Order: sequence, then C-alpha cells, then structure tokens
Amino acid sequence: MHIFSSETGPSENQSITHPVLDAAEVFLDIKREDLLHNEVSGNKFRKLKYNLIEAKKLGYTSVVTFGGAYSNHIAATAAAGKILGLNTIGIIRGEELGIDLNKTLLENDTLRFASAAGMHFQFVSREGYRNKASSEFLDQLKEEFGSFYLIPEGGTNDLAIKGCEEILGSEDATYDIICCAVGTGGTVSGIINSSKDHQKILGFPALKGDFLAEEIKKYTSRTNWELVIDYHFGGYGKVNQELVEFINVFKDQQHIPLDPVYTGKMLFGVFDMVKKGVFPKNTRILAVHTGGLQGIAGMNKKLMKKKLPLITI
Ligand SMILES: *Cc1c(COP(=O)(O)O)cnc(C)c1O
Repeated sequence: MHIFSSETGPSENQSITHPVLDAAEVFLDIKREDLLHNEVSGNKFRKLKYNLIEAKKLGYTSVVTFGGAYSNHIAATAAAGKILGLNTIGIIRGEELGIDLNKTLLENDTLRFASAAGMHFQFVSREGYRNKASSEFLDQLKEEFGSFYLIPEGGTNDLAIKGCEEILGSEDATYDIICCAVGTGGTVSGIINSSKDHQKILGFPALKGDFLAEEIKKYTSRTNWELVIDYHFGGYGKVNQELVEFINVFKDQQHIPLDPVYTGKMLFGVFDMVKKGVFPKNTRILAVHTGGLQGIAGMNKKLMKKKLPLITI
C-alpha cells in the first residue's frame, strides 16, 4: 500500500507575489495538493486513501464508482486501483459514449487514461445515472461484476472526509482564511473539521447549487465556514474567456497550473475578493490547490470547438 502510506503529510505551501495582494496588504499561499501524486492528484488522493485501504482490508478485489466523462474522480480511481491491484469499474454518464468505445477513447483523454489504467466502463443514460444509487441498479451490477466495494459519485463519504482532514497540518494554524473549491462538499468538510476555531473556511462552489450547505452540514458540526457562491461561472464545467485568461496569466506569472472546473474558479474568486477589499490588512490566506489538471485536455477540446482561446499547458 505504498501509495497511501501514512507518510503522506500535508503538502507544501507556496507563497504568491502579486501586485493585487501587495495593494491590499494581504498574504496568499497556495497549498500544492496537486503535487501529491502524478496520477492520483490532489483531493482525490485524500478521498480515496481510506476507502481503498478499507476495500483491501475487507478483501474486495473490485471497486465500483460513478462519474461524468471528464471526471477527475474517475481518472484518480482508475490510477489508484491499478497501483493497488484492484479492478475498477466506472459507471459513466452518457449512453452514447458506449456506442463506439474506440472512438470515445480517441476523443476523450480522461476515459482513455482510465481505460489504459485498466478501468472497465459501463455507460448509462442520464436517467439511469440518476438512479445509480438504487438497490435495483446495484443488484444488477453485482450480478454482472460479482461483489465490489462501492465509492459514491465524486468519492464523498465518511472515509473520504477522514482523508481530507489530513490536508491541513499543524503548521497551517497561522492562516486566518482557508479557501477551497467545492463540488460535492466532501473536501471542504474535511478541511473544516481539522481547522482551528480562529480560522474561517471559505468554500467556492464550482456549480450552482443551494443544496451544498446542507451537504456540508452532514459532515461537520463546526460553524467557522461560509460558501462564496459568486464564482461558479454559470455552472459545473462552464467557463468563459475571462476565466481562461485568468488561468493562463496565473500560470505565466506564478508557474502554477490551475484547472478550469475547480481551482481556476476558486482562485479567480479569491483575487476578485482581494481586489474588492473583502479581506482586512495583514490577512493570511491559504488557498488549497486540489489538483484536477487532467481535465484541461478535455476542456481544451471543447474550447477549440467553440473557437475560444485555449488553456496553455
Ligand atoms: C473533485 C474536485 C473538487 C471538489 O471536491 P468535493 O470534495 O467534491 O467538494 C475540487 N477540486 C478539484 C480539483 C476536484 O477534482
């Protein structure tokens, strides 16, 4: 279990120099969770850790999980399964993708990567996907694949939260504000649980969703957090030229790549809030880079079709 050995401590914090930060007299560091592992990057590493340790411990040889065709969670589960010798089965949203698998794999970098790591796919309709947690559907999967360890969509469950509680380390107690992108809310919940009372955690949803605060409350009883809902850019996976330009300039200036679905939106929001004077002088901000860079290739194909500028890689 080398990949999830207990030696994986908190990742390094990199301090950012930028005129916007200087003008507001605030400090910003980025926690480079994206550098945790080449293929099982960022928060998906944290979320999978205790789940896959548990799957192994219980003697399972297969893992089933769910995701969209560009999902970071699908890519990470496939890669971690390969390393740990677990079969992985991905239930993917979009029946049409299964009609010509070779064509799908040629066109879709995420699924090609997951397939090369040995993941077996089952493509389901949008409607089928909505019923993916029903006992009928799961029984059907058991008939087909035998017994398996089930990881929910996006990987969020109690063991995932436990893994995300290891994102912050004792040296992070000096920050006032901790910022994190939010999809299902699992990662930010873990961060909230291991934060200090004097710290405020800001979650930046990458999608429109009033349900997220309720989700987070399922996993934490702490109250030192807030969702900043102004930076979803129209919804999950939606981007515009302004966001792409922000990501490209940030990479150019800071040498830190951001992904367009989560970390790009979160950091755009952090800089916008700093500009607007939301944070008092001398505030120390830590933004967690949760990874997700494998999704850039897929996003660039969409941008190309729309004749929009691409994300530089
Ligand atoms: C999945 C993902 C998130 C969202 O994590 P949740 O635990 O679902 O909120 C954030 N950032 C990146 C890069 C991700 O891949």
